[in-house]
Amino acid sequence: MAEATPTIRECVDYARRRLPRHEAELLVGTSLGVPRNHLYAFDERAVDPVAFARMAETVARRQDGEPVAYILGMRGFWNLDLEVTADVLIPRPDTETLVAAALPLIRSNARVLDIGTGCGAVALAIAGERPQASVTATDVDPACITLCRRNAARLGLSVATRVADCFEGIDGRFDVIVSNPPYVDDDDPRLDQGDLRFEPRRALRGGPNGGLDILARLIREAPDCLSPGGWLCLEHGVDQERALARAFRERGFRRVRCHRDIENRPRVTVGCKENRES
Ligand code: GLN
Repeated sequence: MAEATPTIRECVDYARRRLPRHEAELLVGTSLGVPRNHLYAFDERAVDPVAFARMAETVARRQDGEPVAYILGMRGFWNLDLEVTADVLIPRPDTETLVAAALPLIRSNARVLDIGTGCGAVALAIAGERPQASVTATDVDPACITLCRRNAARLGLSVATRVADCFEGIDGRFDVIVSNPPYVDDDDPRLDQGDLRFEPRRALRGGPNGGLDILARLIREAPDCLSPGGWLCLEHGVDQERALARAFRERGFRRVRCHRDIENRPRVTVGCKENRES
């Protein structure tokens, strides 16, 4: 006898036995291609066994710890839905603090540079908010640049892209430079735990010196690419606030201040380049 065709309710029950409710609903809804409110309103509806199998596979991946954003291939950031792949860090609410800190510093026709753009989250959020600005996004990994371009095209946003290691090969001056660089210490045990273990090491590891190597390099090199009075805005770890403030000041930045993230942790430091050429 043929097996009974599963229903939407059986899919939801299957997933909810294995995952927290909101993850279960997200994965079932996406696998079956139905909006979340259909899961309960049309729970008797039959489901194609192929779709059931697809749903069970996504549930298994989540049970193995894979982040939901990688399973869905999408993540919301700022007001954008961004495609994400395992080549890029998953955009985080923490990083919306970087966008929020930078925006008031970006006048409508500013030149903006985003270093280490990943899927393009920060550059695209800024491009969306400042359509007249010229936004350039760089990443050392060509796969990130490909993804950033795909996101830009899908969202109808305009950013120039470059494969580049920090400022290498970047010409011209920018009014605002933003970056969420790798800043986790190489020995941080969190790298082998939770979501982080699925994310690209290159996007996370900031070296063995408290994770500060790339942040320090950006602070050192940024003035050569900033216009006078331009701003550098860097996301960093919650325990790096003092080191960042010191490094910004030692490099001659003025009006240095730290912004807190939605959990009230120090997360983004900004500083202004002196108004005259050094
Ligand atoms: N905010 C991330 C974390 O600590 C790290 C991101 C980064 O290195 N840029 O989970």
